[in-house]
Amino acid sequence: MSDKYSHVTDYIRPAFKDQSKIEQTVAKILDKIKNHGDAAVQAISQKIDQQDAQYIDLLPFDEYPIDQSLKDAIQSAHRRIKKFCQFQIKDLKNDQFSDEMGDFGFVYQPIEHIGAYIPGGQFPLISTALMTLIPAQVAGCPVRVACSPSDHPALLAAASLAGATQFLHLGGAQAIGALSYGYDQTPAVNLIVGPGNAYVNQAKAQVQHRTQIDTLAGPSELLIYGNQIKQPEWLMFDALAQAEHDANAVSVVVSETPELLENLYDLLDEHPKGKELLNNDNIVLLLADDQPQALAFINDYAPEHLMVCDESMKTALFKNYGSLFIGENSAVAFGDYCAGPNHTLPTAGAAKFSGGLSVHQFLKVQSTQKINNTGRGVLANISAKLAAAEGLTYHEQSAEIRKL
Ligand code: NAD
Repeated sequence: MSDKYSHVTDYIRPAFKDQSKIEQTVAKILDKIKNHGDAAVQAISQKIDQQDAQYIDLLPFDEYPIDQSLKDAIQSAHRRIKKFCQFQIKDLKNDQFSDEMGDFGFVYQPIEHIGAYIPGGQFPLISTALMTLIPAQVAGCPVRVACSPSDHPALLAAASLAGATQFLHLGGAQAIGALSYGYDQTPAVNLIVGPGNAYVNQAKAQVQHRTQIDTLAGPSELLIYGNQIKQPEWLMFDALAQAEHDANAVSVVVSETPELLENLYDLLDEHPKGKELLNNDNIVLLLADDQPQALAFINDYAPEHLMVCDESMKTALFKNYGSLFIGENSAVAFGDYCAGPNHTLPTAGAAKFSGGLSVHQFLKVQSTQKINNTGRGVLANISAKLAAAEGLTYHEQSAEIRKL
């Protein structure tokens, strides 16, 4: 085995540095907010971020003093993300059927209060304002609270364009606590969406028992799979791009072709950032013996972003991923900003049970039933029998009393 790469069977996704310390820190933050409310939110924000937790009144998009070319880019990204959201729900409609027993249906109802976390600790993620708020607006959620530790004008402009109804300048686990328990003029929200660092993500995990969350969208991950790479330099920058998000971010390249991994290693090693990320295991090159072994590894790893270089591969072979990027044209950076599909995606293996953020998550599917007289008689007989077998007396009586 070369010292430039490892074997897929030897690689295990590393735990976050200081994971148990993060869990304890977050638990303490949430406990303080639960017990001491707004005063705790303020005190924690001051202590950790040296900033007041305060509302920022959003201006109309055009009034933000930012470069016109950046404004144009935000608007173009907004259009594409909105188009994808509208496409996602174009066939969703309330429906019902009627039979001899009555009318039975379901309705889609937007969740009323949602909170959108927009990361801003290291970089102001302007694009996340679009990715989290546009689907909420397209779904029709009436109250859309944006929360971010950043007050970068372009991020505020994007939040305004994407329809935030309130903007709270607050970050980290305390922001998730404020959204979940309520803060000042913000009642507790029913759903919290958006990515964040290990603290934010841990806080989402810990409030799940009281507030719905989208998915565990933590430090970024990319897995590139390829055997014939036409543009190794493109892929080198894709790997660097993911790893620049966070000290815990990881880019993994899997191949059955040792020469390809060696070439990629040499390319990265010549790049100062690439060398550093290789040394810190933020970029990892892995050899598989054959395609079944590579696929087994990829499906078990369940990466946030999966880039498959060979466009002709059957996509159905890949079972677990947040978003699939097919072919070398499909830079993950395009997906991060403006291709259209959401960039808020499951990490740390959560892609085994969850997809990324979509308009669907802002909607509840509720059912309706209207029983007619025939239905009353027939269903009373069935229900009474089942209730008696279960020993639920009043259920049985409630059915019996309706018998014809
Ligand atoms: P962030 O807004 O997520 O977190 C910043 C906050 O973390 C700070 O405001 C602070 O309150 C808190 N924090 C930092 N250090 C702390 C400490 N020692 N103790 C307690 N709280 C602390 O911004 P970020 O740090 O720039 O991270 C953004 C993250 O979002 C990255 O990890 C990136 O990979 C991730 N991301 C994920 C996705 C996805 O879909 N999975 C998409 C975009 C970004």
